[in-house]
Amino acid sequence: MEIECKTPYEEEVRKHSKCFGGFFNAHAHIDRAFTFDDEFYSKKNKSVSEIEKSSLKEKQKLVWALHKGSAFEEGCIEERMRKVLKDSLEKFGIKRIDSAIDVTYNTGLLVWNIALKLKEEYREKGLQFNIGVYNVSGFKDKYKVPKEEVSKVGERFKLFEEAAERADFIVALSEKDNNKIHPTHIGEIQHNVYMLELGLRLGKPVHFHVGQANNPNDRGADLLFEAMKQVYEYRNRLPESKYPRNFLIHDISAANYNEEDFEKHCKNIKKFNLGVISCPTAGLSMNQNRAISAPIHNSLARVWDYAVKGIPVFFGTDNINDVFVPSSTPDMYDEIVHVSNILRFYDPRILAKVACGVELDNFDRQKIRDTLMI
Ligand SMILES: [Zn+2]
Repeated sequence: MEIECKTPYEEEVRKHSKCFGGFFNAHAHIDRAFTFDDEFYSKKNKSVSEIEKSSLKEKQKLVWALHKGSAFEEGCIEERMRKVLKDSLEKFGIKRIDSAIDVTYNTGLLVWNIALKLKEEYREKGLQFNIGVYNVSGFKDKYKVPKEEVSKVGERFKLFEEAAERADFIVALSEKDNNKIHPTHIGEIQHNVYMLELGLRLGKPVHFHVGQANNPNDRGADLLFEAMKQVYEYRNRLPESKYPRNFLIHDISAANYNEEDFEKHCKNIKKFNLGVISCPTAGLSMNQNRAISAPIHNSLARVWDYAVKGIPVFFGTDNINDVFVPSSTPDMYDEIVHVSNILRFYDPRILAKVACGVELDNFDRQKIRDTLMI
C-alpha cells in the first residue's frame, strides 16, 4: 500500500528511507495506542478531554484506570496493537519498532503475552517488533509499606523480572519512584541501580525515560550517571570498555543547561556508552512552565549536537493517539516533519538515515556542522 505524499520533500524523505532499509521507530507504547476515547476511562468517570489537560504525573497515575477498563481486555489490546503493527509495515514503511509494554500489578503478564505472540507473527511478515518490559507504576519499598501490602510489593518485582527474561530490552522511569513525591517507593537512585543490575545480569539494554520536564533544575540524568558510577565502578568493577550500551529517552531538560553543564552532560553520555532516543512530537507536547528561566531552546533534546559528537541518536513516536499525546500517529515521517522544524535542519537524506536507525558517518556529521554551525 503506497502512501500518497503531500509534498516533493516527503517523497524524497520516503525515497531515502527505502534506500536505508525502512524506518525504525525506536520508542513507542503501542499497547496504549488508540485509547483516546471516553469509553476506556469509564471506571474513573472522566472524559479523555479532561485527562488530556492533566500534568504528565497525573496522566501516569491514571494509567491504572486504563488498565482496569475495556481497553486492556484481551481482544481490545490485541486489536489496537495489531493496527499499529499492520499500518506501520504496510502504510508507513517501518521495518522495526521498539515498544515499551506495560507489565504492572494490574496487567500481570496479559499484555506481555499478547506482545510476544505478535512479535513472532510480525517477524515472519518482515517487521522486527522488539518489546521492552515497563512498569509505569514504579516500585514500592517493602520496608515502607504496611505489612498487608508486602506481598504485593514482591509480586511487582517478580512479574517485572519474569517478563524481563523474555524481553528485548528493559524500560525505566525513575521519576515514578521519587521519594519526595512517592514516600513509599524505592527512590530514584535505587530504581536506576535496580534497572542497571537487571540489565547487566540478563545482558539486555535499558532504556531510561529521563529529562522529560524541560526544566534546567531537572537533574534526573545526573542521578542516573551517579547510579551508573555505583553499579559499573563500585559494585561490578567494570572497565569503561565493558560498559553496556544503554539509552536515554527524551533527555529534553539538558537542552536548558548552560554550555558548560551541557558539555559535561555530553561527556557523561559518552563515558557511560549511551545513545539518545528523541521523540519529537511527544517532546513538543510537554507542558511548558513559564515560571522557569533558561537559555532559549525548543522542547527537544539537542540531537544534532549529540550527533556531531558521535553520540548515537534515534527517533521514536512515543505515545500514539492516547491521553499522553492524542494527535500523534505511528508514521515516522510525522516525526521528521517535527524534528526538522523544531531544530531547523532539513537535509532529507540525513533525517531519513537517523529515522531508519542507520549510523551517521563523518561526511554526514560535517554536513550537520556546516549547516547548523555547531
Ligand atoms: Zn515513553
